[in-house]
Amino acid sequence: MLHTSLEGRIALVTGSTSGIGLAIARRLARDGATVCLHGLGEPSQIEAAISDAAAQTAPRPRHFGANLTDPTAATSLIEEVENTVGKIDILVNSAGIQHVSPVTEFSLERWNAVLAVNLTAAFLTIQRALPAMLDRNWGRIINIASVSAYFGVPNKAAYAASKHGLLGLTKVVSSETARTGVTCNAVCPGWVLTPLVERQIEARAARDAVSFETARAELVSSQPSGQFVKPEQVAGLVSFLCSPDADEVRGVGWNMDGGRSAR
Ligand code: NAD
Repeated sequence: MLHTSLEGRIALVTGSTSGIGLAIARRLARDGATVCLHGLGEPSQIEAAISDAAAQTAPRPRHFGANLTDPTAATSLIEEVENTVGKIDILVNSAGIQHVSPVTEFSLERWNAVLAVNLTAAFLTIQRALPAMLDRNWGRIINIASVSAYFGVPNKAAYAASKHGLLGLTKVVSSETARTGVTCNAVCPGWVLTPLVERQIEARAARDAVSFETARAELVSSQPSGQFVKPEQVAGLVSFLCSPDADEVRGVGWNMDGGRSAR
């Protein structure tokens, strides 16, 4: 397995109290980075995430709890990390939410919340963290987008708009940093079995009056491989993007979707 040494690097992973972000935090800690966890959750969930990442040999991570529906909190998050841990070398924007509804019934409140967490927060964290990366001429910005950065499936207006926007933001930041040691890329997973997707499976099961297992099997069958992507596989790709081999990988939206985009 590829091993990336990130000793001496400080990494902030937003949305790392759960799912994909937690797997990324765990992996970057194992690679030697000083990891800063971020996200919402019950105190027990946050403590479990800290212990989980701490078990990977890096210093015990600190947790930051900014609620990213509030734009000022996204900016303060970076300041808080810089003031308490240090300048950020690796910024992974993984915090994200979903809301499923036909466009005609999509409330403005839910639209604004999805755009705030999935897109505006990434813009603000990048804007605030990038200058220190440029000062040191090294940095990695990795945005966890989605296959929804490429496709528009029914009932996911805000999510698709936010992920298309996140990929566009990725390309622009990559263009602006192309002659520097900072890279900015996006990862575009298909279905990954995390709490975000479990909630969608529960809703499908209720809608179709079938069991959770049946709804889960139907959902994953839309992925050509018939398999869920594992959070650890997304984390492995993030680790690669942090490695010297990826110095010239810039502005990509890297699919990891069991063959979905090949169709
Ligand atoms: P998850 O629900 O397991 O984790 C989401 C994380 O975001 C949590 O840590 C949560 O606390 C944090 N978060 C949510 N709302 C927040 C808020 N208002 N302020 C601060 N933090 C907040 O979800 P996941 O599946 O791990 O998703 C992680 C990322 O991957 C998301 O951006 C999601 O869109 C993307 N993604 C997921 C899948 C999938 O199939 N699970 C596929 C493609 C892309």
